[in-house]
Amino acid sequence: MNEVVVNIRCEIIEEMKEHALQEFPNECCGMLSGKEDLIDGISRCTNQRSSPTEFSVSPPELFQFFRSLRKQGRDFLGIYHSHPEGNPAPSRRDEEEFNYPDASYWIVSLNNGLASVRCFEWGRAGFAEVPYTVRERSDVAVVLSPE
Ligand SMILES: [Zn+2]
Repeated sequence: MNEVVVNIRCEIIEEMKEHALQEFPNECCGMLSGKEDLIDGISRCTNQRSSPTEFSVSPPELFQFFRSLRKQGRDFLGIYHSHPEGNPAPSRRDEEEFNYPDASYWIVSLNNGLASVRCFEWGRAGFAEVPYTVRERSDVAVVLSPE
């Protein structure tokens, strides 16, 4: 198991799931932000491909996202999208189109109306699933490990 654990606020996980369910049957996508190693911000973006099997973040929204991060002194920490058909891992197309090797890569997979969230990081062998820690507001942490 990877030593580096990604930290994320529980409400960000909930928001990603909700976004994925709302965009069904198409893929949703968006950007994650925070400070240091805690993801506590989410920006829903438009999937300009409006597709159930692929996504592309609208460039003007991407520009807006990075500009607001700069203004607020926050960091870009991740990108997410959904797999409405249920595949829980990055697709071949996801690998080919991946542009942010330093950011965490989140996939919300849907299965009969249930959403589950997995986190991946880019390494020498391509994407690898990594564990993440969900931080409650009270800072009680729940560690979710990949299967
Ligand atoms: Zn994908």
